[in-house]
Amino acid sequence: MRIALLAAECAPVAKVGGLGDFIHGLGRALIAEGVDVEVLLPDYDCLRADLITGRQLVRDDLWFDFAGAPLRCRVSHAWVDGLRCCLLAPDSPAGFFQRGRIYGEPDDALRFACYVRAALEYFHQAEAWPDILHCNDWQTALVPVLLYEDYERRSVTRTRVCYSLHNLGYQGWTDPAVLSALGLDIARLMTPDRLQDGAAPDRANLMQGGIVFANFVTTVSPRYAWEVLRTEQGMGLQTVLTNKAQRFAGVLNGIDPVSWNPRKDPLIPHPFDATQLAGKTANTQVLRARLGLREANKPLLAIVSRLDQQKGVALMAQAMVYTLAQGGQFVLLGSALDPQIQARFERLRHDYQGSPDCHLELGYDEALAHLIYAGADLMLVPSLYEPCGLTQMIAMRYGCVPIVRRVGGLADTVFDANFCVLPPEQRNGFVFDTAEPAALEFALDRALGLWLHYPEHFAALRLNGMRIERSWQQAARQYLTIYRGLSAEIAND
Ligand code: ADP
Repeated sequence: MRIALLAAECAPVAKVGGLGDFIHGLGRALIAEGVDVEVLLPDYDCLRADLITGRQLVRDDLWFDFAGAPLRCRVSHAWVDGLRCCLLAPDSPAGFFQRGRIYGEPDDALRFACYVRAALEYFHQAEAWPDILHCNDWQTALVPVLLYEDYERRSVTRTRVCYSLHNLGYQGWTDPAVLSALGLDIARLMTPDRLQDGAAPDRANLMQGGIVFANFVTTVSPRYAWEVLRTEQGMGLQTVLTNKAQRFAGVLNGIDPVSWNPRKDPLIPHPFDATQLAGKTANTQVLRARLGLREANKPLLAIVSRLDQQKGVALMAQAMVYTLAQGGQFVLLGSALDPQIQARFERLRHDYQGSPDCHLELGYDEALAHLIYAGADLMLVPSLYEPCGLTQMIAMRYGCVPIVRRVGGLADTVFDANFCVLPPEQRNGFVFDTAEPAALEFALDRALGLWLHYPEHFAALRLNGMRIERSWQQAARQYLTIYRGLSAEIAND
């Protein structure tokens, strides 16, 4: 079976967030299952060239029409950490992929529309279509639209599309002119059951189009799949998704076992695992020394997060005050894009400067993140919504007990120590429901109290989390079942 993965990101060469990890982790796990995988990426000028091997120009004459003019595209093959990649460099006058960054440009919709056309022309002109095109998020939503509105009319009938949604907060709302740049019929497509946005009829909603036209749609956890169908988490796409419900599923992401292995992590000073926990205590000491916290018999609660409304920033600030009042220590590593959120946390940092029990580090710091996972006792993830979430899964591997809101992938992976129908050995954290201080504080009370007064029970909870295997292999097998189901439908046609 031949699978093509299409996305705007692929870790570690083009990573902004979890989407990059998904392509890297799923791609490698599919290869381990014996699948022929190719990753197609825009040839960004900001790709990490030092992490790419075997780059080779294979075509410099992939021509196609875009925005009313012929456009030439260069195609290179390369390897990224065992993944076979195809890098597409359209020679666009606006320098679509020469912007020094992956997203955030005013013409993003046009940039990624061009990438999608280049990818599909790459297959079409070589007459080598894969069995499955697996596309991701709004940037590649036009893959199934083009396949069925254009290539099928040119006798491409044996390829199927799986479309994965990683965050419904970003749907690719855009001017419908993007569709005509691809030669698509605006009048035909701008209807409520195709690409016309439900809230703003003059806008195209690319993610909606991807859902409507794909053969199968997935999202990154079963609970988020339920939420986007049945609650306001669907962000306007509930009806479109309900119409697709028979072909929609949540598949839980994994974490990369190489990057996140406390036994072999080069970014932590003292290796450890579930059978050798002494290193964990030593890492706590290093973390305290590094951040200027006092050595004390206190539970250390941490947050490692983007500082974004989605992540529950108001609850984070409340957790800090409450933890300190209850005799705990508090560490936050957070990066904010929003200047107001940044200013709010700068004020907090200023207010607590010099505290022996509290440290706020504002910015993105991979090495410090590893040390925090390795040294902290508790990790708070109070998200308002969370499609999957990696933080809680990483925390558990590093013996850091998660405290989470019961949403999305957090609800699928964290099981409350006290209120849970599962047997005690399957419980691994603390869960609260409403995004309000009282609910948060009740969870914090239980977590800090267990650490302070019942250390053996806390140690057992910590070990339960460390023993969980959340590899990409499980996800890859579920995706294979989906791909095989789609291929079987072609065989039966
Ligand atoms: P999202 O992709 O929505 O930001 P996830 O929980 O899926 O959230 O993934 C977050 C990842 O980013 C984790 O690996 C976490 O350790 C890392 N991370 C988040 N903020 C920071 C930061 N400020 N510095 C270093 N790593 C961070």
